[in-house]
Amino acid sequence: MAVPTSYSAASAASDDIDALRHRHAEASDRPTRIRVDLDALTHNLHALRAKAGAPVMGIVKANAYGHGLVTVARHLQAQGVEQLGVAFLEEGIALRQAGVRVPILVLGGIFGPQVAQFIVHDLEITVSSLDKLRQVEAAAEALGHRATIHLKLDTGMERIGVHSYNAGPFIEAAVASSWCVVKGVYSHLACADDPASPMTAVQLERFLDACTHFERIGAPMPLRHLANSGGVLHFPETCLDMVRPGIALYGVLPDPASRRTVDLRPALSLVSQVVYFKVVKAGHSVSYGATWTAPRDTRVVTVPIGYGDGYPRALSSRGDVLIRGQRHPIVGRICMDQFMVDIGPQGTAYNEDDVVLIGRQGDAGIDCESVAIAAGTIPYEILVGLNDRIPREYRGGGLSDR
Ligand SMILES: *Cc1c(COP(=O)(O)O)cnc(C)c1O
Repeated sequence: MAVPTSYSAASAASDDIDALRHRHAEASDRPTRIRVDLDALTHNLHALRAKAGAPVMGIVKANAYGHGLVTVARHLQAQGVEQLGVAFLEEGIALRQAGVRVPILVLGGIFGPQVAQFIVHDLEITVSSLDKLRQVEAAAEALGHRATIHLKLDTGMERIGVHSYNAGPFIEAAVASSWCVVKGVYSHLACADDPASPMTAVQLERFLDACTHFERIGAPMPLRHLANSGGVLHFPETCLDMVRPGIALYGVLPDPASRRTVDLRPALSLVSQVVYFKVVKAGHSVSYGATWTAPRDTRVVTVPIGYGDGYPRALSSRGDVLIRGQRHPIVGRICMDQFMVDIGPQGTAYNEDDVVLIGRQGDAGIDCESVAIAAGTIPYEILVGLNDRIPREYRGGGLSDR
């Protein structure tokens, strides 16, 4: 096809060119993509709810742990999730603007000027101090609309929340407030990833002890929630009236020490394709800094994804990928947009062969947990690091969910 010399050039080809431009605007043809299996999310939601024996607040902060905020939230809503949780006001507003209707709690600390936005978008507010309670009351009164709040108690995380041993006056003030509806009371576990840690029992005891203030003042007990993924997996007694799993919902364990007490299915795969093939001669180095040198003549392919997509540079000469069902090592430094893989002197791979960075290929698999270990980090950071330069593709779940 003839390529016009300028964007305005009129020619027989311009319709084709327009069609191509249009197609690119709609769906990326980039061979690198994230595939999200919505049926795995459904399975994990039901499995975690059954294990906890409690309603689920699905945590979808940080772009649903890299899986795509709006699509995941709509899907969980369609599957009957009782509530959603996000970190920031902006994430909650994005969900409301996308038409998500289930209750949404914003878990993060609040800033005074934002409070009215929570109320007008029907977002539930985390109130973590008496001061914040007063801010919420003032904003609610000014709007003439009551705010729905969850009281945040600190039982050992020392992040946000009123210390559980000082919670009495805080709870009394919240219950007495005519502009706030106390829907929940919660705290956050610091060590639940590790089934052997004694910290969780201490935190549970502090939390339950603080909750007795509601009874003492004759107030109805709000929803008590404490368990993150680690809590659901390892500490059934922390599940209480609602659970807040994040990473387990996506089928990933929080920590190498975690136990697989629930049958979880990973929802995310990260795939690309071979973009270049060559032979590197013995003694020749690969990539920036020349940190890896071929010990023998070997075949090396290039894969078009890098740390600019959130694939960690720490995997330089440490990570593996799957090509044609075989595991092969990443060699040399990962670049912003590409990296190289040694497929060995006899390896075969062709341009456009599929490359799996996270996920399964034939009988082989690379899970997010092992990628995290190779990169010297935790699975959370791997998932949420995968950024918007990578197109997301959804499978399963039924078309009506999108
Ligand atoms: C992120 C978060 C969760 C979910 O944690 P996971 O370890 O991913 O299950 C639950 N509660 C709060 C307050 C959080 O910030």
